[in-house]
Amino acid sequence: MANVELRGIVTREIKYGENSRILTVLAKDHGKVSILASRARSNRSGVLTATQLFAYSDFEVFMGREGSLLRLNEAEVIEPFGGLRISLEKMAYASYFCDVANHLCYEGTEQNELLRLLLNTLSGLDKGNDDDAERLECVFLFRALKEAGVAPDCGGCACGEEEDISMLCPAEGVFRCKKCKEGHMGLEVNARLFKVIAYIIGSNLASAFSFKLGRSSAEYLAYIAEEYMRCHLEKDLKTLDYLRNVRAL
Ligand SMILES: [Zn+2]
Repeated sequence: MANVELRGIVTREIKYGENSRILTVLAKDHGKVSILASRARSNRSGVLTATQLFAYSDFEVFMGREGSLLRLNEAEVIEPFGGLRISLEKMAYASYFCDVANHLCYEGTEQNELLRLLLNTLSGLDKGNDDDAERLECVFLFRALKEAGVAPDCGGCACGEEEDISMLCPAEGVFRCKKCKEGHMGLEVNARLFKVIAYIIGSNLASAFSFKLGRSSAEYLAYIAEEYMRCHLEKDLKTLDYLRNVRAL
């Protein structure tokens, strides 16, 4: 039994009992962890800020018997990402990103690359304007798929063709060229979108966000990334439905 220091992002909170909450935190070196935040511990304003959804914080938790929940002692915010809570649209994007991260992460398995990716994405969303959100979403989803080991193979079509790429097949994780796509189910892409996807997946994280794409292309690419992720998770996330509804407003 000991106190443990954790640093990470609050990716989910659910009510527990009368006054407590259970936080899901994507923590450095520990992956996904669940922390019980009782009211007595978390109603001080500093701790409240540090434990709200999307906050990136330092946590001191008490680890009891094996298998029991971690209990929150102290929390101090590093970056509250306050901008994500004052815009309906940003909140919808951030909720979807955190939901995806929760689905891709396992308890107790280090997921530092995914944490870094989520942190960079939330930071860009927090500071940026609304019309940059799809671009951030494309990077987040394709990089998260890469971390999960299921990103599409960006070497071109299986036939060796690299120029006439016109379809992405999520179930198999492959691109297909004009000649080979006949008879296959997939998402339409053009050569430009293929190059952008390959760039996002192939570059290092620091430069993955720096590509230019018009708004309507970014919207369509975000749709492709969402469908690809949905195929991989084999699940419809409510946060994606919500994001699509907010976008359509
Ligand atoms: Zn081909």
